[in-house]
Amino acid sequence: MAANNKILNKKQRLRATIFGAGVISRKELVEKTGLNYRSVIAYAEELKQQKLIVEDIRTPPDDESRPSIHYVSNCGRLYCLGIMSYRRTVTLAAADVNSNIFHVSEIVLDENAAAVDAAGQVSAAVDRIQELFRHRTLAGIEICRFPYARKENCYEGMKELCLSMRRHCRIPVFLHTSYDALLLHMARNFNISGRTVLLCPGDTICLAMVEDGQINENMENYARRFRHHPLSAKADDKCSCGKRGCVENLLTHGAAIRRYIRLGESEGRLFRTPEDIAALHMLAAGGAAAARQTLEESGRLFAEALWFLKNDLQADQVLLNSRNPFVNSSLYERYRELAGTELPPFSAFRATMSDVLSACLEIPLSRLIP
Ligand SMILES: [Zn+2]
Repeated sequence: MAANNKILNKKQRLRATIFGAGVISRKELVEKTGLNYRSVIAYAEELKQQKLIVEDIRTPPDDESRPSIHYVSNCGRLYCLGIMSYRRTVTLAAADVNSNIFHVSEIVLDENAAAVDAAGQVSAAVDRIQELFRHRTLAGIEICRFPYARKENCYEGMKELCLSMRRHCRIPVFLHTSYDALLLHMARNFNISGRTVLLCPGDTICLAMVEDGQINENMENYARRFRHHPLSAKADDKCSCGKRGCVENLLTHGAAIRRYIRLGESEGRLFRTPEDIAALHMLAAGGAAAARQTLEESGRLFAEALWFLKNDLQADQVLLNSRNPFVNSSLYERYRELAGTELPPFSAFRATMSDVLSACLEIPLSRLIP
């Protein structure tokens, strides 16, 4: 692993030197990077194949000395693709190395498409973008999927897409959950170091973990157990595991709405889906006492869950992807009681779809220019 990192660093140094210079001779490259000729030739060959640079043979103006090999950066023409899937909708965005998004398109996958067909539909959309911007070079793809409705073919289709793209493109293609991308983005932009865990309530309860700038890709098994971790409150109905105090049965959007409806209010008709948490937030903002009480209880339960995660995973930071004034006030208060310390002010935040899309694009872009 250490040896791999060493090579990776050397390759990045070489790439950064060519990108920084614009045009540089092989001789200068050896001098500037401190790498030997053999490494420079081998690494430059890789960059050439990935179309990140072009080789050029130049004759000096004096016509006396021998022609020499130059490397020309292709940096200005490079772009990366972020592919974000949310339920059946797939958004594709292209950005250049300055993170300027210059193209966004959207496709809706057929409801009954098999995973392989869903992958085919997205793959065709990628081809269309490459054709549209054929004067530019696609240098990396990040696919991110919202981890809901995981039984749906569209969700599996993204896995299929990643595998087929890896086989067919000669560029890095990666697949993460949207929460992985979001947490990495947060950690990078807020300069959060150490082990950071993100709790994401939604249709279900998801977790993401980033440690020193790396996504932990194996959180799903832990999350599966965590969903049945008992909290102090008891839900009215039993969890699928037979208990009443599970995280899954208390912290999902649907669970909060069920708690609210049971508190005796009659505004239940406002909920378009069992997960329509925005409707509950609006009721609370409009002064509905039971809605407010429900959200305050959610805040206290989130605090318990975060405190458990902080200890169980030995995390340096715990974050919550949810933000509401009523949730927040009780969250911070309850966390202070449990931990004896304040939860940092940025710990509860709300991310929009476009935040996730730019977080997704940032992964391949930062691989190009760290
Ligand atoms: Zn359970």
